[in-house]
Amino acid sequence: MKSSKPTHHIRLLPSVDEIIRNQKLLETLNQNPRHLVVRATRHVLDEKRGHILAGALKPDNEEDLKAGIISEIIKLVHKHNTPGLRQVINATGVVIHTNLARALLSKSALQAVEMAASGYSNLELDLSTGKRGSRYAPLEDLLVELTGAEAALVVNNNASAVLLALGTLARGKEVIVSRGQLVEIGGSFRIPDVMAQSGAQLVEVGSTNKTYPADYQQATNDNTSLLLNVHTSNYRIVGFTRETTVRELAAVGREMGVPVMSDLGSGSLIDLSRFGLPYEPTVQETVAAGADLVTFSGDKLLGGPQAGILIGKKEIIDKMKKNPLTRAIRIDKFTVAALEATLREYRDSEKAIANIPTLRMLADGPAELLPRAKCLLKKLQQLNLADVDFKLVETISRVGGGAMPTADLPSTGVEILLQQTKINNLASCLRDHLPAVIGRIQNESLVLDMRTVQAKDMDQLFNAIRNCLMKI
Ligand SMILES: *Cc1c(COP(=O)(O)O)cnc(C)c1O
Repeated sequence: MKSSKPTHHIRLLPSVDEIIRNQKLLETLNQNPRHLVVRATRHVLDEKRGHILAGALKPDNEEDLKAGIISEIIKLVHKHNTPGLRQVINATGVVIHTNLARALLSKSALQAVEMAASGYSNLELDLSTGKRGSRYAPLEDLLVELTGAEAALVVNNNASAVLLALGTLARGKEVIVSRGQLVEIGGSFRIPDVMAQSGAQLVEVGSTNKTYPADYQQATNDNTSLLLNVHTSNYRIVGFTRETTVRELAAVGREMGVPVMSDLGSGSLIDLSRFGLPYEPTVQETVAAGADLVTFSGDKLLGGPQAGILIGKKEIIDKMKKNPLTRAIRIDKFTVAALEATLREYRDSEKAIANIPTLRMLADGPAELLPRAKCLLKKLQQLNLADVDFKLVETISRVGGGAMPTADLPSTGVEILLQQTKINNLASCLRDHLPAVIGRIQNESLVLDMRTVQAKDMDQLFNAIRNCLMKI
């Protein structure tokens, strides 16, 4: 009679050496560094040992155990060989999806990045004089031209732009903010915390739903360095509300002799109400309204690379350029290249909408979305699979990136209807696929929103769904 004590089962575990010498691992060993295979072998053996000791695994056949171990080793080595960062087809309908890397670059931005990455460039050389130049110069010229601001600076992301602004202008001094704007952006970026980090002292005024110009005026004193307006990106206070506009704030600022800063967060150079989205002041309008300093992201509504853009009065921007922190959060050449090309597109707003993927996706209507959905639907139906249904559905896409949280973008999707347990298997298989596919599980089905699927990815999307439906 066989004993079922763990020690008995442990004895069935092969040694690392025995496994490595197995014929079935020969191909894996030929294609990979030996130490990688040995490491994977140790890992799988340790795991099996743990399972046996915990009573979760009771093998009684040495050959079966060995075969299972080898197949897990092969899988693990394969996993180690797959890049951690990989292509994802975004079928969620969330255009600026922070978890899926936000903005896609335009063709011109991609070309610029390739140029900058594959050869030398005049990043810090002024070609007209042969002297040292500034990496910010081409960006500053374009930003001044496009926004009407006096000067500009670009840093790593908008969070660092806000930190730099507060640290430069308000260290050891007071900054007045409305109680309705003490936002948390996500990833623990909270205005009160950023304020503390920068050495500025937060002075809250007004109430959650109402803040008047007089509230700022009354709180201003000799130690006030800044009146700060923060875009409440990812939430809305609706109903009985009153926010002080940038224009009103600028009037208070002028009267009291205190600069006004507006953290726009997303910040768009184009009025998106033409796509049926809510009207929001553009970057240019915020400058024209009298803000002395405006900050916004490069990879939200602008549709460029990750960056934090600061524009405003020359005197203020000059102070920030001299702050040593600016050197620590400076942008690299890829960002300079991609952002310059992206900004160039904005010289002609029609061109920008056609060429910048973020804007194009926001602009797409039924004429673009419906044919994409119908094409995918037809190909899926032609697979003639049992136990699965496909349907064309109306869905709602979102802007995302913490922008316009209440805005609904009517869209079209393909719905995959399966048994509940199979839906989860399908979603998990699609996440594991190369490229991965992320959809939306909704009413016990999987919905693929066509707005965020790139035309060039349609075939890959179909292949991924087909492969996974065959597997689950
Ligand atoms: C998104 C956002 C930020 C942070 O910008 P990042 O580019 O993500 O660093 C700061 N402030 C507001 C209002 C935002 O919406």
